[in-house]
Amino acid sequence: MHSFRYRDGKLHCEDVDLARVAEKFGTPLYVYSAGTILDHYTRLDAALALLDHVICYAVKANSNRAILKLLAHAGAGFDIVSGGELYRVIAAGGDPARCTFAGVGKSREEIEFALEQGVYSFNVESEVELESIDRIASAKNLRAPIALRANPDVDPHTHEYVSTGSRENKFGIALDELPAVYERAAKMLNIEIVGVQMHIGSQITEAEPFASAIKKVAPIVRKLKSKYGIKFFSIGGGMGIIYLRALESGSGKWWHDHGPACAGSAFSIRDYAEAIVPPLRELGIRILVEPGRFLVGNAGVLLTRVHYIKQTAEKKFAIVDAGMNDLIRPALYQSYHEIVPCRASAAADAKRTQEIDIVGPVCESGDFFALDREMPEVHEGDLLAIMSAGAYGFMMASNYNSRPFPAEALVHGDKVSLIRERQTWEDLVRGEIESL
Ligand SMILES: *Cc1c(COP(=O)(O)O)cnc(C)c1O
Repeated sequence: MHSFRYRDGKLHCEDVDLARVAEKFGTPLYVYSAGTILDHYTRLDAALALLDHVICYAVKANSNRAILKLLAHAGAGFDIVSGGELYRVIAAGGDPARCTFAGVGKSREEIEFALEQGVYSFNVESEVELESIDRIASAKNLRAPIALRANPDVDPHTHEYVSTGSRENKFGIALDELPAVYERAAKMLNIEIVGVQMHIGSQITEAEPFASAIKKVAPIVRKLKSKYGIKFFSIGGGMGIIYLRALESGSGKWWHDHGPACAGSAFSIRDYAEAIVPPLRELGIRILVEPGRFLVGNAGVLLTRVHYIKQTAEKKFAIVDAGMNDLIRPALYQSYHEIVPCRASAAADAKRTQEIDIVGPVCESGDFFALDREMPEVHEGDLLAIMSAGAYGFMMASNYNSRPFPAEALVHGDKVSLIRERQTWEDLVRGEIESL
């Protein structure tokens, strides 16, 4: 479900006309729908109702404080991967006691901060990390709550860059080595064993890999529960979303009639719940889930304006004002993003579609949002919405080509607020030091 629809030919986010938002705050601009985020949270919460569960939002997907605050109010915990993310959660009013701290390379400084703040669990990815946490906790005279991250060695059938649960990845501890590491942990004076965790990858679009990972880890969970009295099993995040796709060619009419509505999904939250809830229920233990993309991915768009239409002998290009520095997913993962005009007139007068490359101004051939995309005719000055940009969008933005970070806005009903100011050129050089 998402809340981006045409009304009278104008693309709206909830009750707000996106062209108005672009006029007010400029482009490139990320716009998020609070209603969509809350709807996803509520539906997941309901699907897991039969379990004692906590939804720990994976902060790295979108860590704007306004979004963290929204989710904290809804009752979410948080899955963090750095001290900076913990700092953000606290700044947004989130509770450190509902945070799990993941990641393969936690620094001393980060571990100290997380200990002081009292996180719910350190999700530990190696024996050396465990030793390091024990030492740091000992120096502080504290006990660190830990869960080991199991690597169940399953194939999540996703892009290799976002697959994390197979043996070749840097993540987690192999199942056959896990019992020995738990035994070592049990002997450490400043370590308290509280759970077990896994996370097999991201943008997983079928329920089966989750189910088979749970099946593999469940016997270990049972043993750990009886042996160490662990309190929770975190099954990670990774639920994929439908990157909204245009239907057949000639979709100009379809857009005009329906807007970029969800094209339907093979993998619904119900499929997910049906596959995982029964086996997890049998374990009789608290279940944590760590969704990032699922909660925010389809809740955001990147608005961009067409600077120029460039026609060459081979191709037609729409050169837009957003670049790969604003949204790197197409360049990094060859990911698909639906792109639609914010004014349906632009779609309607072009029932004819054309093939066009939508590219940014950055000096890299990888700076594109769509290649040979069949879409309604695009003109200079048109405002386009790059859909499904709420997760791993702004978060991966950079200042490459000395382009300031874009602004971000949050819509709730008929209200829109700026939740991050656009960077200025002065911001770009702030903190730099000219030596001799
Ligand atoms: C990135 C990450 C997540 C969230 O992944 P999504 O695909 O966005 O749901 C959850 N848990 C851990 C440990 C992660 O690293």
